[in-house]
Amino acid sequence: MARLAELPPLSLYVHIPWCLRKCPYCDFNSHEKRGELPEAQYVDALTADLEAALANVWGRRIHTIFIGGGTPSLFSPASIDRLLTAIRTRLPVDPEAEVTLEANPGTFEIERFRGFRDAGINRLSIGVQSFDDARLAAIGRVHGAKEARAAVQAAMAIFPTMNVDLMYALPGQSLDQALADVREAIAFGAPHVSAYHLTLEPDTNFYRNPPALPADDLAADMQEGVESLLASAGYEHYETSAFAKPKNRARHNVNYWTYGDYVGLGAGAHGKISLRDRITREIRERKPQTYLRAALDGDAICERREVADGERPFEFMLNALRLIDGFPLDLFTRRTGLPISTVEPQLAAAEAAGLIARDHATIRPTERGRRFLNDLLEPFLEPAPARPAARVINISSPGTARPS
Ligand code: SF4
Repeated sequence: MARLAELPPLSLYVHIPWCLRKCPYCDFNSHEKRGELPEAQYVDALTADLEAALANVWGRRIHTIFIGGGTPSLFSPASIDRLLTAIRTRLPVDPEAEVTLEANPGTFEIERFRGFRDAGINRLSIGVQSFDDARLAAIGRVHGAKEARAAVQAAMAIFPTMNVDLMYALPGQSLDQALADVREAIAFGAPHVSAYHLTLEPDTNFYRNPPALPADDLAADMQEGVESLLASAGYEHYETSAFAKPKNRARHNVNYWTYGDYVGLGAGAHGKISLRDRITREIRERKPQTYLRAALDGDAICERREVADGERPFEFMLNALRLIDGFPLDLFTRRTGLPISTVEPQLAAAEAAGLIARDHATIRPTERGRRFLNDLLEPFLEPAPARPAARVINISSPGTARPS
């Protein structure tokens, strides 16, 4: 195994797997809430899970925390406070750490925002998706436009920074409607906007019963219009779906995209932990009840494997080439332990095909490379042809690069 000269920055992801209702397009590990949530027991399980994980990250500082789901805003501020206290008393957390919580619009959740802030959340990510009632109904969301506006307004007033999740290419959506959603997010002054193209994922209701979606040409116009509106409003387009005002990039997600490390706690959470002589990936038990039992028994991990040298270039590129500005050359070696010459043939071919641009310091995807990302990434799989690519793709980003 190639050795790492340094360990990457460390983040912490916490998965809370319940929602009011399952959205028909959602393939996340999220489960419809039935009756009271076992909040106290789940926080106990997360704490036990963290304790079991400590040995592998001992002494390392946490730079960002992301509490995602599911709908974590269904948990009370007291439970979030207990969770963050449990983390802080067990691991050194950077005093400047970005601490994000995902929330959905809804009166019940909005009433809790101030409590989340008091508990230590300093960034709220709101699953707005659209400010149009008809579009929200078409994608099966439980909230309406009025609640979406109220949530954004409240979050802007309470949190130092926040994100608005939007989706476009929704059933029956026109170009004007897609752009109106973006204009509204801009008008609110949202410091960060994530704009996702709705896709039909296997194992979802939309996949089994597909709705009528905008044609590819129209969806491409929407994407172009979204990007240009946000650019003209001063947002930096820094990753495929992510747009930020200066100094408001999502540091947690940037750590994923720069092949950083993360502990993943909670049902179905994925983690990636580097030691000097190995990189390990872990997956927790997926079903909430199984996870609860396993975590409280001291071992919630159902799958653990080492990332072989031959897999690292693909995993690295899969993440880093999502970044519009690409990555510094030396980052490849710092994160994978491999010299950049390992992938020189693939880089030269990608450059010749107009998929990347590079100089002595950086490598970045061209616009063509971003459009044909699969073509760009595929050659990096070659060193390990026997490995199933889909599995690697699935475990590379624990639930942050898609709408919730
Ligand atoms: S899209 Fe978000 S709110 Fe809807 S089921 Fe999935 S995790 Fe829950």
